[in-house]
Amino acid sequence: MSTTSTDTPAPVLVLVPGATGAPADGGARFHVADATVPQLSVTDLVATRGDGVFETVGVFDGRPMNLGPHLERLARSASQVELPEPDQATIAEAFQAAVDAHDPVEEMSVRIMLTRGIEGVGTPTCWIHARVSDDWSSYRAGMRVAALDRGLSTTIAETSPWLLPGAKTLSYAVNMAAVREAARRGAVDVLFVASDGYVLEGPTSTLLVRRGEEFLTTPVSAGVLPGTCVNTLFAWLHESEGRTVSEELMTVEDVVGSDGAWLLSSTRLAAPIARLDDAELPVDHDLTAQFEKVLKGRA
Ligand code: PLP
Repeated sequence: MSTTSTDTPAPVLVLVPGATGAPADGGARFHVADATVPQLSVTDLVATRGDGVFETVGVFDGRPMNLGPHLERLARSASQVELPEPDQATIAEAFQAAVDAHDPVEEMSVRIMLTRGIEGVGTPTCWIHARVSDDWSSYRAGMRVAALDRGLSTTIAETSPWLLPGAKTLSYAVNMAAVREAARRGAVDVLFVASDGYVLEGPTSTLLVRRGEEFLTTPVSAGVLPGTCVNTLFAWLHESEGRTVSEELMTVEDVVGSDGAWLLSSTRLAAPIARLDDAELPVDHDLTAQFEKVLKGRA
């Protein structure tokens, strides 16, 4: 068993040279590689330009959640930035190889990275990195969130598609800067607000709002990433619980006046917003625990 000095199981790296077609050197489509040594070229366009797309998939007790939808979103993001189409079957096999090579853990975070590759070569670089998930328990208990102006309107999908609304690209510096601004304001996460006043999403998460027996999220047409978690919860809420689910443009006041709000993402799962700027929101711990079960595939 491979462990680090802190007894955390070691991360696993799988390189996928066959991610968008047969490897030029006739070698294997994917193989496990040493995760402790440098593997990425300094001239890879993801290093020099942040030019690539990615997915983060939660794996719970060895079972990946929503791998198919994540691979489909990877393909859509790749198409938006005009990268070659990823071979979803090869990536799925490589993904399973990474999970199999990792020590068994309750919660694993697995990233699939697809970059534009080494400058001048024209072949994407792809790898899969599996590691133990961060400890999200304090976030799942309720978070302080800052509402931050995103500086873009909800019409960008129509007016400025080159801003890549809805693509999961590797240009996340702005998203991470927003989280640092939240920390300066005493919060741990962000709810982005569009320039026309509507709430969007978090830097790495989708907004879910409860209004009575109705559950709402931001319309994908407003330029947010189509989330896999919100789809899973909407299906469960609608089909198993008989609740109404819909997309709706909402303001900060709508969220503050709601019966509960969460930021959803594949490894942190459902994190309730306990406070938005200066306003307290109700937190339903039982429902949040139910959401966690559903998002782990255990409902
Ligand atoms: N929105 C953004 C900008 C994200 O980066 C993410 C996930 O990382 C999400 C929403 C949530 O997506 P998912 O539920 O598929 O994890």
